[in-house]
Amino acid sequence: MNKIEHIGIAVKDLESANQLYEKLLGIGHYKEEEVASEGVKTSFFKVGSNKVELLESLDENGPIAKFIKKKGEGVHHIAFAVDDIAAEMKRLANEGFTLLNESPKKGADNKLVAFVHPKSCNGVLIELCQEAPPQPTPKGK
Ligand code: ZN
Repeated sequence: MNKIEHIGIAVKDLESANQLYEKLLGIGHYKEEEVASEGVKTSFFKVGSNKVELLESLDENGPIAKFIKKKGEGVHHIAFAVDDIAAEMKRLANEGFTLLNESPKKGADNKLVAFVHPKSCNGVLIELCQEAPPQPTPKGK
């Protein structure tokens, strides 16, 4: 894995969280994006070579809503940048980690993503992300 790509933070209200993080970081977000497949609305801040991703649930039964109900707002996941997500998933599966996805899927911010179960990682949800190819994602590889 290359570096921490971003830290995902679950928030109840993206609008007010945006304002708070803008104040905290002294910069505005560079992007807001809905990820329908995850039922979330996201907002990204660039902090040096890393990012902060704020996540608000679009669906009261979505994973972010469930997380907040259980644990309250806060750090939801840590994402690591990888060069070859499929190879990394295979490596981790062989090491005995439980993956939440069978194959990489399209995430926010033009990334291919996959998640490692928090039970495998001392209670921390880990995201792997790889910059998606500029062309439509090749399928069935
Ligand atoms: Zn993320």
